[in-house]
Amino acid sequence: MNKSPDTQRMEKIVSLCKRRGFIFQSSEIYGGLNGVWDYGPLGVELKRNLKNYWWRVMVHERDDIVGMDGSILTHPAVLKASGHVDTFTDPMVDCRLTQRRFRADRESVSRKDSIRLALLVSDHRKFNLPTPKVDPSSVFKFFIEFADKMSAQPDILKDDVENFRKAYVSGPAASGDSIRLLQRKGEDKATILKRADAFYQLRNILIPMLSPSTEEVTDSRDFSPENGAELTPPRPFNLMFRTSMGATETEDSIAYLRPETAQAIFVQFKNILEVSRKKLPFGIAQIGKAFRNEINPRNFTFRSREFEQMELEYFCRAEEGMKLLDYWLGERLKFYENIGIGRDGLHVKTVSDEERAFYSKGTYDIEFDFPFGRQELEGVAYRTDYDLLQHQKASGKSLDYFDEETKQRFVPHVVEPSAGVDRAVLALICEAYSEDEAPDEKGKMETRIVLRFHPRMAPIKCAVFPLLKNKEHLVAKAKEIVDLLRPHMNVFYDESGAIGRRYRRQDEIGTPFGVTVDFETLGEKDADLRDTVTLRDRDSMKQERVLVKDLPGILVSRIT
Ligand code: ATP
Repeated sequence: MNKSPDTQRMEKIVSLCKRRGFIFQSSEIYGGLNGVWDYGPLGVELKRNLKNYWWRVMVHERDDIVGMDGSILTHPAVLKASGHVDTFTDPMVDCRLTQRRFRADRESVSRKDSIRLALLVSDHRKFNLPTPKVDPSSVFKFFIEFADKMSAQPDILKDDVENFRKAYVSGPAASGDSIRLLQRKGEDKATILKRADAFYQLRNILIPMLSPSTEEVTDSRDFSPENGAELTPPRPFNLMFRTSMGATETEDSIAYLRPETAQAIFVQFKNILEVSRKKLPFGIAQIGKAFRNEINPRNFTFRSREFEQMELEYFCRAEEGMKLLDYWLGERLKFYENIGIGRDGLHVKTVSDEERAFYSKGTYDIEFDFPFGRQELEGVAYRTDYDLLQHQKASGKSLDYFDEETKQRFVPHVVEPSAGVDRAVLALICEAYSEDEAPDEKGKMETRIVLRFHPRMAPIKCAVFPLLKNKEHLVAKAKEIVDLLRPHMNVFYDESGAIGRRYRRQDEIGTPFGVTVDFETLGEKDADLRDTVTLRDRDSMKQERVLVKDLPGILVSRIT
């Protein structure tokens, strides 16, 4: 099957991530843990750069926001009050053939190209009928023969046949179970019948009586995207991971792994208000792990079961809520542009009244064009005073704010920009991935893979190369430069292989700058060039000659 260019692009990205040490599957040597990922040496740097920049612009560069770091293990009462225990669910469906589970609202399966083949079964054993010794697809022949026999000995089989007839004629199946299977484009009926057979074998109905009837199906979500088998009706599935605290496992020992970082902020609101002595509007920011037992983890790290969030709860007066919602949307869009995600690839979706949480007065989703489609990166929601009121009610502790000017007491409202670290990392990688052409050592053009990370995000900022590894003075000078740069940034020293190869290896991991120490640096060719190096730019591949002592200043100005 031909793959779409985007599928191919995604596969290349996933493979690069593994090959160069950005992201690995968790517990890979044991076959992997589904929906869980480990970040390798480069991935962890990229992730840290992202989180540090978020913290810098959200906390350090502002007077109105303070940080916190809450625990992952969460008291059940917190999540009961927040509504997570009762309503943090996704509708889940199971494939009736393979028992695989899907998230119901995400699987739109058949799009105008399908015929529904309703295969009806009767479990003949229940009716004491003779076993049809025929191929299931020619089951009608069996009925005819059976009808003949029956007319010869009507009394013996009369009751059974009557029961059978009633059930068979009036209902979708005489007994046992029935399944509907989708005949998708390119599939013939025999394949479908085989699939139906598998379904009945699973139920121990060895020779099912099949009565196929077909009907057109369009835009249905009733069928598995994998095999066209019918799905069960949707059931709610709670996404929270439960664990048990202490030596005995009872209902009282339940704790949850937090499904979002936000709740710790609401629960600590009063403490933080008191110690920080902030006035409204002000915010509390947090970065940390969250856990959701996603029904279908997929699209690499996009939907994981363990992930990180960067959340801000920005408390305000009710009348400021809508204005601040728009303000934070603007700030968050700026953030993504400042880490190198172009405005063209970002989209703002205004979440409709039906889709929005009932307590929210306005929500935007910031979406990104991933190779697998346009998907949410971050949600910006005006959550009103719902969260604080819920916790105030459930805990019996006041979570209000005293306005010294107006002498009024009230529970603040909140605007929440909630971003996913892993989704942003994936967006950074997808946005950065590109292929162009560059000359190899012999001047022949070859494909160059390059991650065009914004220098601010790049895991390694500068690579330092001695032109030749067997020239002691070149090596010593290069190591001196590494020491000079190291206090300011993450640098990488590489002396192995031809210089072009070394550049290429750095291009592939997105290192924006390369410094080469050559004989000019040593002043061997031209005394004026002593203590200068070539500084190569990853994207333009242009080289400039700069003084070694100027390097920290030049580079720091380009990476911060
Ligand atoms: P989705 O609709 O994609 O499941 P959501 O609307 O449930 O996401 P929120 O509860 O608003 O997500 O969480 C805020 C942010 O946390 C999301 O915008 C996303 O970046 C991140 N996030 C949520 N679930 C996951 C997940 N399973 N894996 C990775 N990141 C996630």
